Amino acid sequence: MATRRIVEIGDEKLRKQAKPVSKFDLRLRILLKDMADTMYKANGVGLAAPQVGILRRVVVVDIGEGLIELVNPVITDAQGEQSGPEGCLSVPGRQGLVIRPEKVTVKAQNARGEDVEYHAEGFLARAFCHELDHLDGILYVDKMEREIFPEEEQEDKEAKE
Ligand code: ZN
Repeated sequence: MATRRIVEIGDEKLRKQAKPVSKFDLRLRILLKDMADTMYKANGVGLAAPQVGILRRVVVVDIGEGLIELVNPVITDAQGEQSGPEGCLSVPGRQGLVIRPEKVTVKAQNARGEDVEYHAEGFLARAFCHELDHLDGILYVDKMEREIFPEEEQEDKEAKE
């Protein structure tokens, strides 16, 4: 297992446009493996290559339903709306309320350069949108309706009990 250092908000690499991948070689497979290892170790549900300092259009996502590797991903359709809490491994200790599409279609390539397509809804759609934004230098804090504070979560829990 090889993990990479996650860059945090304030690092200019998080604000740059990532470049498309054209070579589906061993180097790409190692990057994908390292990104998955890094995501799992950090207990994240997604990670984009710029978050480990690599400005390439590569994303890994696992919301608990298995690993999804996306190379050169594009959202080709988006429908509906959902509002919910979002965090980011590059923005540690914070959460915000973000509006995202309820459903998205994502076209991408896999590690071998084959075309893949995902129809995602709910939390997976949110994860895709969040990670794809990273490839264009966008962080959830740019889009959030407002910050969510830890004491607020506590109040919510108490209210439910
Ligand atoms: Zn993020």
